[in-house]
Amino acid sequence: MGKVISLVNQKGGVGKTTTSINLSSSLGHFNKKVLLIDLDPQGNATTGVGINKGKIKYSIYDVLAGNCEIADATIKTKFKNLSVVPAIINLAGIDIELIQKEREQEDFKKGNQLKEKLDKVVENYDYIIIDCPPSLGIITTNALTASNSVIIPVQCEFYALEGIMQLLSTIMQAKKKLNPELDIEGVLLTMLDPRTNLGLEVVEDIRAYFKERVYDTIIPRLVKLSEAPSYGKPIIEYYSKSKGATAYLMLAKEVIERNGK
Ligand code: ATP
Ligand code: MG
Repeated sequence: MGKVISLVNQKGGVGKTTTSINLSSSLGHFNKKVLLIDLDPQGNATTGVGINKGKIKYSIYDVLAGNCEIADATIKTKFKNLSVVPAIINLAGIDIELIQKEREQEDFKKGNQLKEKLDKVVENYDYIIIDCPPSLGIITTNALTASNSVIIPVQCEFYALEGIMQLLSTIMQAKKKLNPELDIEGVLLTMLDPRTNLGLEVVEDIRAYFKERVYDTIIPRLVKLSEAPSYGKPIIEYYSKSKGATAYLMLAKEVIERNGK
């Protein structure tokens, strides 16, 4: 059975998408079969792995709307062991559609759509990585219902802990009401600028709070990591010798070790 891991943080710009792309491709590099699911209407994970949005037949919107199965929307990327279910902007309208369906159909649950579809393909992969949008709405609820665990990326900046309590409470509520199995896979420190003491202070604070849940690997702030998506490539393909590539490969190793597979 594949392990389903969501990248969540309602705070914008903390490295969810960058981590989704680079963790997925790094797991693929280590011979794991990986499905990356883009669950953000911005579709940045989709373009980040080299998919041309203009040529997509079915996207995650169609999966959630019940127009197709995950297998129909899955596209093989150019990268080793990595497939993607793309997102385009129409996903932004799915909330309203799901709310309406729940009102009209008695047995329909707006938070269950992804899980129902994912259950049919989960055994075909070692890891399924879900890139969530920066909100805690119905799209993220679908991700939390479908996931075994979550990785919380935290940016090494002054406001790092802002919103974390709300996020943890949302995760706990989802665990209680929707998905008793849901676990915190790990907390990932991102965009550390080693030249600032502030970044290092945040590292200390987060480690003190989340203890062994925090990955040893810290993702540094590097221009190469922000450039790679515009070439449609993960960092290990765009510039394999960069510190960013090393960091994400190390993260993938930690994830594999924690899961024993
Ligand atoms: P959103 O909440 O909007 O979905 P996000 O949490 O997915 O954002 P990203 O899109 O991964 O965050 O990152 C935000 C911005 O920071 C992007 O422009 C990205 O290229 C850049 N970025 C992410 N990680 C790094 C890094 N380690 N070094 C430099 N730039 C980074
Ligand atoms: Mg994102």
